Amino acid sequence: MRLGFTAAEEAFRAEAADWLAGQMAGEFRDIKGIITLTAKSERRKEWERQLGAHGWSCIGWPREWGGRDATLAEQVIFAEEYARSGAPGRINHIGIELAGPTILTFGTEEQKARFLPGIASGETIFCQGFSEPSAGSDLASVRTKGRLEDGEWVVNGQKIWTSLAHISDWIFVVARTEEGSKGPKGLSFLMMELVQPGIEVRPIEQINGDAEFNETFFTDARCPADSMIGAPGEGWAIAMGLLAFERGVSTLGQQMAFRNELDEIVAAAKDNGRATNPLIRQRIAQAEIGLRLMRYGALRMLSNTDHAKIDGAALSYKIQWANWRRNLGELAMDVLGQEGEVTANSNYEWDMLPNLFLYSRADTIYGGTNQIQRNLIAERGLGLPREPRGSL
Ligand SMILES: Cc1cc2nc3c(=O)[nH]c(=O)nc-3n(C[C@H](O)[C@H](O)[C@H](O)COP(=O)(O)OP(=O)(O)OC[C@H]3O[C@@H](n4cnc5c(N)ncnc54)[C@H](O)[C@@H]3O)c2cc1C
Repeated sequence: MRLGFTAAEEAFRAEAADWLAGQMAGEFRDIKGIITLTAKSERRKEWERQLGAHGWSCIGWPREWGGRDATLAEQVIFAEEYARSGAPGRINHIGIELAGPTILTFGTEEQKARFLPGIASGETIFCQGFSEPSAGSDLASVRTKGRLEDGEWVVNGQKIWTSLAHISDWIFVVARTEEGSKGPKGLSFLMMELVQPGIEVRPIEQINGDAEFNETFFTDARCPADSMIGAPGEGWAIAMGLLAFERGVSTLGQQMAFRNELDEIVAAAKDNGRATNPLIRQRIAQAEIGLRLMRYGALRMLSNTDHAKIDGAALSYKIQWANWRRNLGELAMDVLGQEGEVTANSNYEWDMLPNLFLYSRADTIYGGTNQIQRNLIAERGLGLPREPRGSL
């Protein structure tokens, strides 16, 4: 087993780091270090286009669709250098990490040609229309309906928690297209233009004052018949494929961002004297151990060429990092003490550590809650009997 990177991979790292450092010191220095998901969204859309223009937007995709054919190790290296450079969170991460890979895997050649170049160039921002008020963990309970009418899908219903819908151009939607169907049967996967008379987006304000997600209402919203990925009724399989991208290896590179957060906590503890508190010291050490374990776990997954084994290991990684980061957020607040409860900025523009605490509460929910992840580990990973499912 090789726990590290080759010389060629380190050369790739240097190239990426160099380019990113140049951008963050130059044209895009005004958006360096932005921590909330939506701040300066127009500038960050320009940044997406800059990444696209220089071939750094979706490096794991095939070259013919705007990628670099980068290996998994190179993708992780890029994600690490991206975090190290202080570049802002990717405003099109749903397009790049979820919509794109789904189209690459399940779309027709025509659909690839229609959607992928826009995502790769940063022109098309995507959001995800899965969750509904009574269909989150139980996604198979989706009630939004789609019917075929005059060569178009006509969609009615409501989605919720639609991250970044207010700044997106497109949304992918899981809708029930077979009248009277229940559970995972009869669902389909549609690509819809978001800015149209039949779609209304209403922001939901979060605990950190940001409004990064929304309620999305569909009233006779429309898309051409050929905007369906897969065939009618195949939506569940495609949604599950997409969730594997969301929970899986695409998150391996985030440890460098976690490193930045832990370093910030250590600096704050040294600064305000809490680094001498034995309980705080123990928790900082524990966080360091947890981070290194995740790092070596990720390197072990990368060293494995058997993708089935990588997927098995990735199954437990979501809950591992989500719990680690939730604990890190709590540690951050205990290190800051009362200072963590006030902000010098207006409009709840929290500093990095209070924002980490508030945002990390969501980590154990989105992309599959901890309870759902445990069910997946039990059933798919360990082959335990399925838990009873009421609606099926
Ligand atoms: C920051 C953030 C961004 C999000 N962005 C998007 C987005 O862009 N698009 C989108 O479609 N969705 C998005 N979501 C929604 C997210 O996918 C759901 O919140 C998540 O799937 C949980 O669904 P729910 O909120 O309906 O909770 P519920 O499913 O109602 O769960 C409530 C509680 O019950 C537990 N529970 C439910 N079922 C079981 C079970 N079978 N066994 C044991 N326990 C169970 C859950 O673990 C949880 O603790 C986002 C969520 C967050 C927090």
